[in-house]
Amino acid sequence: MKGKNLSERDQKHLWHPLTQHKTAATPVGIVKAEGALFWDEAGNSYIDGIASWYTAMYGHGNEAITRALTEQMKQLDFVMFSGFTHEPAVKLSEELMALLPRNQAKIFFNDNGSTAVEAAIKMALQYHYNQHDKRDTLIAFEDGFHGDTFGAMSASGLSVYNGPFEDFLLKVERIPVPQRENMEEVLSQLNSILSGNKCAAFVFEPLVQGAAGMKFHSAEGLDLLIQKCQENGVLCIADEVMTGFGKTGKNFASENLLHQPDILCLSKALTAGMFPLSITSCTQEVFNAFLSEEVSKGFFHAHTYSAHPLGCAAALAGLQLLNSPEILERRSYIASAHKTFVSKISNHPKVSNARSIGVILAIDLKVETERYGNLRDRLYNFFMVRGVLLRPLGNTIYALPPYIISNAQLQRIHDAINELLDSL
Ligand SMILES: *Cc1c(COP(=O)(O)O)cnc(C)c1O
Repeated sequence: MKGKNLSERDQKHLWHPLTQHKTAATPVGIVKAEGALFWDEAGNSYIDGIASWYTAMYGHGNEAITRALTEQMKQLDFVMFSGFTHEPAVKLSEELMALLPRNQAKIFFNDNGSTAVEAAIKMALQYHYNQHDKRDTLIAFEDGFHGDTFGAMSASGLSVYNGPFEDFLLKVERIPVPQRENMEEVLSQLNSILSGNKCAAFVFEPLVQGAAGMKFHSAEGLDLLIQKCQENGVLCIADEVMTGFGKTGKNFASENLLHQPDILCLSKALTAGMFPLSITSCTQEVFNAFLSEEVSKGFFHAHTYSAHPLGCAAALAGLQLLNSPEILERRSYIASAHKTFVSKISNHPKVSNARSIGVILAIDLKVETERYGNLRDRLYNFFMVRGVLLRPLGNTIYALPPYIISNAQLQRIHDAINELLDSL
């Protein structure tokens, strides 16, 4: 295929995720990434304004993490995690336990966000099954997103892509996210759902619904819902795949709650974008429900690459950075720069809502519905030609920059958004 560039060669054999290939533009060929930047094959650079789907928080090609991975690769590349264990997994479990909500006691490894949620749901279902408690329904928020495997897809309320599969999904009762204004209504809905004693688990993204367009909800409200669920024997599953590892200001969004989830899912920033890995952590009580003389009461769920040593090594190196003085300074700088930016643009005639929490910034645009059609693509291209990668969702523009982004690079993101607002 001499003479053709990546974008052209790509078209022959590749099928991309989340893509309608009949109408989609050809993908951009990327040849290099470093820090908060990557470069396409024509030599253009882009600021990674969403840290490559919220993963590469310490920057692309981070030296400490790359070194940890290389060293691990030479020492022990891979071994099955069934019947065997290894230092990176043991050490990671020890270090995560020091950081996770205090009620968490056990860590189960998977290899991506969807399978972390899938394992959490299966854990919850079997937890009740093992205790001869027949519960077959999940509770989940409207507009939530939990991944693309069947259990995770069932819990997801964003159903635009779920149409072909709806007849095959798990039973789910859906409630709106709690806000100050609707709290009583949400609680009464939950109470009537709980009265059937059918619910096994409540699955939620704590505080921020990422794929819904970085929608925020009330921590106090969520706290009440968790409390009610736990009083009724419903296991609470916090999907922190997006919010985990400092995005909302705290290490985990659940730290904003008094009532801690029974099960917690983490992935995305876990390995800083260097390796696919995820964990499903749970309380001792959940774990204990699987202990028995009967083999079949164990959790028979596994992926070949469970607890991959390379992923664990990357995660350990990432944890070293998360609360280091340099990264803490950056985390707080980005949070306050976002806050200042939000207060500056909140009254812009084209902004219907601007908000930020931690390093997450989101702006809902005021646009007439007839201009909605290709709005997302127009916004996306507007930023790309300015060397900024953002992935607007509907009429929401959001940024979630890597912690290591420089002040000037962050300013360029804010400037590009400003320029867009003035151009609408
Ligand atoms: C991305 C995401 C998932 C799915 O993770 P994958 O690694 O893409 O399977 C699940 N839950 C939330 C909240 C996410 O943001």
